[in-house]
Amino acid sequence: MKPYFRSAKSATIAALLQHEQLSRSELAEITGASPASITEVSQNLLQQGLLSELPIAQSAKGRGRPSVNLCLQASHSYFVGISISEIATPMVVTDLQGHIMAQQAIPFCKTPGELTAAIRKNYTTLLRDATVPRSRVRGVGITVAGIVDTDLGVCRYSAALNWRDVPVSELIGKALKLPAWVDNDANAVAVGEKFFGRARDYLNFTSIILGRTIGSAHYMHGMLSRGHDGGAGEIGHITIDPKGTLCRCGRRGCLDTIAGGSALRVAAKASGLFVKGMRDLERLAVQGNADAGRLLRNAGTALGAAVAYLVHINNPQCIIFTDMEGFENGVFRTATRQTIENNILPRFLGSTEILFSDAEPSFLSRSAASIAAFEYLTSL
Ligand SMILES: [Zn+2]
Repeated sequence: MKPYFRSAKSATIAALLQHEQLSRSELAEITGASPASITEVSQNLLQQGLLSELPIAQSAKGRGRPSVNLCLQASHSYFVGISISEIATPMVVTDLQGHIMAQQAIPFCKTPGELTAAIRKNYTTLLRDATVPRSRVRGVGITVAGIVDTDLGVCRYSAALNWRDVPVSELIGKALKLPAWVDNDANAVAVGEKFFGRARDYLNFTSIILGRTIGSAHYMHGMLSRGHDGGAGEIGHITIDPKGTLCRCGRRGCLDTIAGGSALRVAAKASGLFVKGMRDLERLAVQGNADAGRLLRNAGTALGAAVAYLVHINNPQCIIFTDMEGFENGVFRTATRQTIENNILPRFLGSTEILFSDAEPSFLSRSAASIAAFEYLTSL
């Protein structure tokens, strides 16, 4: 099934984001638009400076007019990405292809007002470092770990930041004089994977972030699926053990309480293991520490069971795990993968790709920038 696009223009832009460069006839084939419509759309986008033409070398037997491919002009538009967290707030500026032009890190600020002032102050330096003209910055994307009303641009609640009903888009948009959009971490990561990352080729995929808690987001038919009121993807609060540890949501035995980074650190400490992060815990497990091995295996098994349900429900082409905790390739990832593979129907085994990767420090802020890129490009 082809993804739904409002117009031949948005379908053309999406195809070029995915394939980098295409001829007009390839564009017509991929988007399903008529050759005449592609000619018109591409002419229009060339005039706007959003596209450029790349001559392609002709084969030795080539005759007639030299062939030309179209590609997006990366320097046409730039986007700011800000990832607000309780530790620090990284801020990046990316081009249209998601390349990071410059980055800054804002130390933790106690209030939204202080944070906004710090963002405004750092923005000028960020643009200077990136050598990006202010007039080409089309918007700012923001991620917050918490519940976000994306339509209103408000963070309804963030336990990590102790925020309630903060109008994030309005505050930061006004400070930077840019259109602003805010979303939660998990959705932003999925959009980032679709636009700039490993999911360009997938119409149906699941993205899972392994952090202090666990988040997920789903693309279906090329569109982010938010559910009825934005709550889709709350995988961290799936009940794994009804008699388990109390979760911050008030119930017991949620996935977060077994496989979230915060819970694992608490459990490690309770077992007398003093670890800074998951890298240390994995190292202890490899050295034969039974408690470390048990905690990681239980965590991976719980996560794998939850993900196996998702595979049956959504039938994704790919599951992309983004590891922000530093598990690396060890007991946890092995247990997760094995549990998924043992708990899905054989028909899904060969058709569901499972990818793990380590998140780079700028990963979330770059994902935040992708929200602005998506909103800007789909509004053209
Ligand atoms: Zn919970």
